[in-house]
Amino acid sequence: MPYDEALERFEPVLGLETHVELGTASKMFCGCPTTFGAPPNTHVCPVCLALPGSLPTTNAAAIESTIRIGLALNCSIAEWCRFARKNYFYPDMPKNYQISQYDEPLCFDGYLDVEVDGKTVRIEIERVHLEEDTGKSTHVGGATGRIHGADYSIVDYNRAGIPLVEIVTKPIPGTDRLAPEVARAYGTELRELVRGLGVSDVRMEEGSMRFDVNVSLMPRGSSEWGTRTETKNVNSLRSVERSVRGEIERQAAILADGGRIIQETRHFHENTGTTTSGRSKEEAQDYRYFPEPDLVPIAPDPAWVAELKAALPELPGVRRKRLQQEWGVSDLDMTSMYNADAIVLVEATVAAGAPPADARKWWMGELARRANEAGLPLSALRITPDQIARVCAMVAGGALNDKLARQVLEGVLNGEGSPDEVVAARGLQIVNDEGELMEIIDQVLAGNADAADKVRSGKVAAVGALVGGVMKASRGKADAGRARELILERLGVSE
Ligand SMILES: [Zn+2]
Repeated sequence: MPYDEALERFEPVLGLETHVELGTASKMFCGCPTTFGAPPNTHVCPVCLALPGSLPTTNAAAIESTIRIGLALNCSIAEWCRFARKNYFYPDMPKNYQISQYDEPLCFDGYLDVEVDGKTVRIEIERVHLEEDTGKSTHVGGATGRIHGADYSIVDYNRAGIPLVEIVTKPIPGTDRLAPEVARAYGTELRELVRGLGVSDVRMEEGSMRFDVNVSLMPRGSSEWGTRTETKNVNSLRSVERSVRGEIERQAAILADGGRIIQETRHFHENTGTTTSGRSKEEAQDYRYFPEPDLVPIAPDPAWVAELKAALPELPGVRRKRLQQEWGVSDLDMTSMYNADAIVLVEATVAAGAPPADARKWWMGELARRANEAGLPLSALRITPDQIARVCAMVAGGALNDKLARQVLEGVLNGEGSPDEVVAARGLQIVNDEGELMEIIDQVLAGNADAADKVRSGKVAAVGALVGGVMKASRGKADAGRARELILERLGVSE
C-alpha cells in the first residue's frame, strides 16, 4: 500500500534496539584482542571458544564504557546487577548460551532528544545492557548468502566474546508520518553520542553499530497497539529509514485486507527496500534466562559513577549549538550539514585551518554532489579534511580559482595524490605571468574584432564575452578579474 494511504488509515509505533561493539582492547570475558579483519579464528582462546573448564572474568573497561553510554543517555545506573545466561543454540555461539543481562540491566530509564523537521522528539530509553557478541557464520553456495539453500557454512570466532552494548528504546508512539525520519534521526544522534564518548568506532559498514527495527501499526482512532515485527541487523542509517517505511507499507496492506501481522524477525533487502520473513520471534521464556553463576555481580561505586558523569564530554546536541555559533550559520544550514553527516568533516576542515564558510561550501556543494553520484556517504570519499583545507588555502592565496579547485578535488578523489601533487601533475596553477596572459588576450581580441569594437565604442558590457574567451583559451587557468582589467587597458577603455 502506498505510504500516504497507509498513514491515512494507520498509526505506526516504533521501537529500536541498537547493538554497539565497544572498542576495548580485549574481549568481554577473556584477554583475546578485538581488532577487526584478522585471519579467521586467530583471536580465540579456551574462554571464548568455551572449552570445558574455562572460566570468564569481566572486562572492567567494558563496564566503564557502558556506564558512560548510560549516563550520556540520562539513564539511572544500577548499584548492583548481574549477568544472565541467555540459552539458545547457534553454531556461531560456542557456549550454546550468550552471557547477557536480563532483568537487571546496568543502565535503565533514560532518554535521548532528537531533532526532526525543526521539532524535538524525546525518545525514551528502556535499558542499556552489556553482553557478548557471537562469531560470524558465512553460508556458502546459495544464491542469497543466507543459510537456506547454502551447500555448507563456515564460522569465524574472532568476534565471539567482543563486548556488545545493547541500547533498547521504549515503544515510540506519536511519530505519525515522520516515523521513518524519527528512526533515522535517533540512529544518527545515537551514533554521534557514542562516537563522542570514544567508546566505539561506530563503523556501521563493519557491523560495529547495527539496528533492530521494530514496527507495529494500529488503526487510526484505536489505542491498542498492533503486533510488531523486528527487522534485524539493519546496518546503515538510510536503511533504518527505508526499512521503517517499507514495513509500514507492507503491514498496512495486510491489515487493510483483513489479515493479521505475525510476530517475527525479518530481513531487510538493500536493493528493493523491502523486508522478508526470518524466523518467528522467541519469547523471553524460550531463552531460559538465569543468573550467570561463573561471574560475580557488578556493583559500581556511586562515587565512581558520579566521577564518570562529571567527566562526560560535551554531548552532540550541545556541541552542535556551540559550532553553529562559532561558524555563524543558520538553523537550516546546520540541519542540512547534520543530515548530510558533514558536521564532523567541516569541523575537522576548520581545525585544519579553513574558514568555516569555505569548509562548508566544499563539503556541502561539490563533495556532496560527488558522494551522491557515487552513492556513498561523505565520509567514505577518498579525501581528507586536511586536503580540503589545503585547497581552501590555495584558493585564498590566489593560486587556484573555484573552477580549478574543483579539478584538484576531482584529481584527489581519483587517487592522483595530494592537492599539491594534482596541481603539479595536471598543470592547474592560475596563469599569473602577465606576459603569458597578454599573449592569450591578444589572440582573443584578434579573433573577436566585433566584440572588441563594441567595447571600444563604450559598450563595456561586451567585455564579458572577451573575458569568457580568455578563460576558455587558458582552460580556466586565467584570473578572470585581472584578465578583464588588462583587456580594458588594451582597448583603451576606462570604467
Ligand atoms: Zn578469548
